[in-house]
Amino acid sequence: MSPESAIAPVGRARRDGEPLSAPKVRQAVPRSLCTDCGVSRMADPKRCGRACQFIQPDYPAMEAKVHGRARDRQRPDELHFGPYRRMVRAALAAPRPGAQWTGIATRLGEKLLESGQVDAVLTMAPDPEDSWKPRPVLVTSAEGMAQCRGMRMGYAPLLALLEPAKARGFKRLAIIGIPCQVYALRALEEELGFERLYVIGTPCSDNTTTENFHSFLALLSERPETITYLEFRADYHVELRFADGAKREIPFLQLPISKLPGDFFPLTCRTCVDYTNVLADITVGYMGGEGEQWLLVRNARGEELLGSLGGEVVLTEPGSAGKRTGPVTGFLKNTMRAAGGLPVRGMPNFLRPLVGKLMPKIGPRGLEFARARVEMKAIESVVHLRRQEPARMKHMIPAHVWDLVEPYGLAPEAGERAETAERDKRPVD
Ligand SMILES: Cc1cc2nc3c(=O)[nH]c(=O)nc-3n(C[C@H](O)[C@H](O)[C@H](O)COP(=O)(O)OP(=O)(O)OC[C@H]3O[C@@H](n4cnc5c(N)ncnc54)[C@H](O)[C@@H]3O)c2cc1C
Ligand code: SF4
Ligand code: SF4
Repeated sequence: MSPESAIAPVGRARRDGEPLSAPKVRQAVPRSLCTDCGVSRMADPKRCGRACQFIQPDYPAMEAKVHGRARDRQRPDELHFGPYRRMVRAALAAPRPGAQWTGIATRLGEKLLESGQVDAVLTMAPDPEDSWKPRPVLVTSAEGMAQCRGMRMGYAPLLALLEPAKARGFKRLAIIGIPCQVYALRALEEELGFERLYVIGTPCSDNTTTENFHSFLALLSERPETITYLEFRADYHVELRFADGAKREIPFLQLPISKLPGDFFPLTCRTCVDYTNVLADITVGYMGGEGEQWLLVRNARGEELLGSLGGEVVLTEPGSAGKRTGPVTGFLKNTMRAAGGLPVRGMPNFLRPLVGKLMPKIGPRGLEFARARVEMKAIESVVHLRRQEPARMKHMIPAHVWDLVEPYGLAPEAGERAETAERDKRPVD
């Protein structure tokens, strides 16, 4: 059976009362640095060559194409977070059950389906066999979005469903995706030929395979199968929720990171360069939100999306406190010392509980926390690529990443920036 023959015709999902469907997709074509975003499963897998952020991304050109201008390093925070019109702290007045935070990402999808602005929302639902495993779905009526709430760990071929969506006659689509998926989507947007695409992005860092993630859960609880929720919060704690309603908070410094193998996080996720999803119309995250959500409205379509929530969403100004230089410098030292593994040996064990308690009070908070995380990710990209894939550096590392790491004494060595240098000299506007 061809993948297309498993696909329902337009409108069937709604007629049958099925709010979401998971069309069959082709096998992935093996690639070296790859998060299986779905492009290699398309009819023409060679599209990876022009779509992949791990091959030869061109962020200035893509930002200009999507937002009308590339990031402007003179504007506050654009060097770190990419182009944006406004940045807000946000919370749904009525948080949605099962959501990762208050449910803004999936509520935006519901709104688009309720108003008929889109034929379908392309996003992830939990795999029926393993609720931590993401499974790409096409959601065709608003009630289906509730099943997509929450974070799953791992990769699944989201973009492979673009062709089935086209085959079903869908013309207007919304996509909720992580940065490596959104980069490829934007690179192919024109040739895909949809009438309209709404792109809702979430930040992403430290993803890993679902299998690896289960081994992490097993270190956190004697009954890992009862963990239903996990989040690395901006107050330096991991929050766990359990099936019986119990909650547990673990300071970052007391996580059993030293027990994880050095390759726990795949090289893709240690070296990708877009933490904040700069090519989305709106980024829905939490890093700069000090306990609430953090939105970056990047263009007119992002304004339209946020506007659709009306009074359902409470917006406030983001705050910023503390200084990131010390923690980011410490992170660089630990990353170098860890020799390609996980940065864990920065502090004697007896100090960890004390510092774990102090960090939420004295560490970088709000936007300063988000800047620190973006700089740490940039440092990881440079250090890990230099160690493991030096030949890729000149193509994979955009100029703004070198600017982010420069204050910490990291600079391009011979050949690491050669070809990007010419490209990145383009005017930013
Ligand atoms: C692996 C991962 C790492 C993240 N790291 C950060 C971070 O460091 N900082 C930060 O600010 N935010 C991060 N986020 C985003 C954050 O966890 C929330 O998803 C986001 O803040 C939206 O919250 P919400 O309540 O509005 O989402 P909800 O309304 O609950 O919707 C969540 C959406 O995310 C989609 N989704 C869930 N898992 C995946 C997945 N594995 N791949 C693709 N899509 C998925 C769902 O399908 C759903 O559409 C990360 C997300 C993922 C998936
Ligand atoms: S991440 Fe996507 S675009 Fe890149 S190689 Fe893998 S399938 Fe292709
Ligand atoms: S960390 Fe980067 S490469 Fe890994 S899944 Fe997230 S966006 Fe993709």
